[in-house]
Amino acid sequence: MKIIKVKSTAKKKRIATHTHIKGLGLEENGHARPLADGFVGQKSAREAGGLVAEMVRQKKMAGRAVLFAGPSGTGKTALALGISKELDHKVPFCAMVASEVYSSEVKKTEVLMENFRRAIGIRLKEKKEVYEGEVTELSPEETDSVPDIYGKSTCHVIIELKTVKGTKQLKLDPSIYDALIKEKVAVGDVICIEINSGEVKRLGRSDAFATEFDLEKEEYVRLPKGQVHKKKKIIEYVTLHDLDVENARPGGERDILSLIGQMMKPRKTEITDKLRQEVNKVINGYINEGVAELVPGVLFIDEVHMLDMECFSYLNRALESSLSPIVIFATNRGICNVRGTEMASPHGVPVDWLDRLVIIKTETYGLAEMIQILAIRAQVEGLKIDEESLAYLGEIGQRSSLRHAVQLLSPASIIAKMSGRDNICKADIEEVNSLYLDAKSSAKLLQKQKDRYIS
Ligand code: ATP
Repeated sequence: MKIIKVKSTAKKKRIATHTHIKGLGLEENGHARPLADGFVGQKSAREAGGLVAEMVRQKKMAGRAVLFAGPSGTGKTALALGISKELDHKVPFCAMVASEVYSSEVKKTEVLMENFRRAIGIRLKEKKEVYEGEVTELSPEETDSVPDIYGKSTCHVIIELKTVKGTKQLKLDPSIYDALIKEKVAVGDVICIEINSGEVKRLGRSDAFATEFDLEKEEYVRLPKGQVHKKKKIIEYVTLHDLDVENARPGGERDILSLIGQMMKPRKTEITDKLRQEVNKVINGYINEGVAELVPGVLFIDEVHMLDMECFSYLNRALESSLSPIVIFATNRGICNVRGTEMASPHGVPVDWLDRLVIIKTETYGLAEMIQILAIRAQVEGLKIDEESLAYLGEIGQRSSLRHAVQLLSPASIIAKMSGRDNICKADIEEVNSLYLDAKSSAKLLQKQKDRYIS
């Protein structure tokens, strides 16, 4: 029997409930639209989030962090994800719960470090240029009069093209000469040349391949005749943590593309500090060559009141680093003790720390907003639900929490299916609501039946 290691999907699941969030839904002037990018209401928090994104763009957030403070289910995680999408749809977003740092096997700072590196992306670039035009000059340029061991003289090839944007002279590698002869390219022909990071990738008569890779359609499309393209094509995104995991594998090649190719194989060796430093060194080399670029993403730490002083001092240092992602904390606590101390502080965060936070408040939703959010979630999950049921679910959400109401959608759809229906009706919601307790009713019940439980 084969034993297969199963990859943890906890990180992905944590943001799966936010797939409808595509941004903060702001207008050009920074005002929040009532319903946009999957967002409903929470106007001032979204606008404040938009300003944070702008500060990040202007590099004014260095050494600082954001704190979302508000009751459970008021969209704190959704707002953090929205900010990351505002920055760039491809920046990494890593969500963790502060209590994850307490493990019997891994040091607290190690857990924080790993998540920091999950939130720092690397964009690998490929410089791509495509030229199309009529050959007006084609000549070898002697650079070295001494023939090489095959008796060929080492020379560059000068090609002059008449493109729609004027004359372009290209000095190409000697090996291109063979390709030109093979293609029987001569002065007067219309040809196409594709150069990737300084290397000729394709060359030929224009009608044979006047195509260009379309980034949006993700396919090769035909170029309009005579068009000249010159753009940087972005080929891949990875995070520093992906590279750490990859380098921790025994043996194998170490070049960046093979690292990406092997990413899906299971992890074998521990990630050490030395290894991380090696990864940093390689990446710095790529950055200096202009092949890679760092993309700081967003690290979201929920339940910040669960962090202790050791974690805060680690975060202090980490935030100062030039390699820091944007750190967004969230809490639904008021004044409470900083974990592990007798010191009471707002949100359980040390006071000197609060000073460096941009604090954004989130508010509970009204009935209409809640119904709209539930309708969006039902649509995203591909569930059919009528207005009456949505309104009833909204009322349940008002009494309990939005999160609880959202969670009732899936079991209600199962009940509907079991009754041979495609759409969720009010009776299905009533049934699941009678089966599951929300946090508030559970607490009330415990209070009432105190003597029946062990305390
Ligand atoms: P907690 O404090 O319990 O972690 P939270 O404040 O982080 O809760 P979320 O998890 O962001 O709350 O919200 C609960 C659900 O409601 C998620 O599916 C989220 O995407 C959705 N949601 C919350 N607010 C909005 C909103 N304003 N517009 C659209 N969807 C929302």
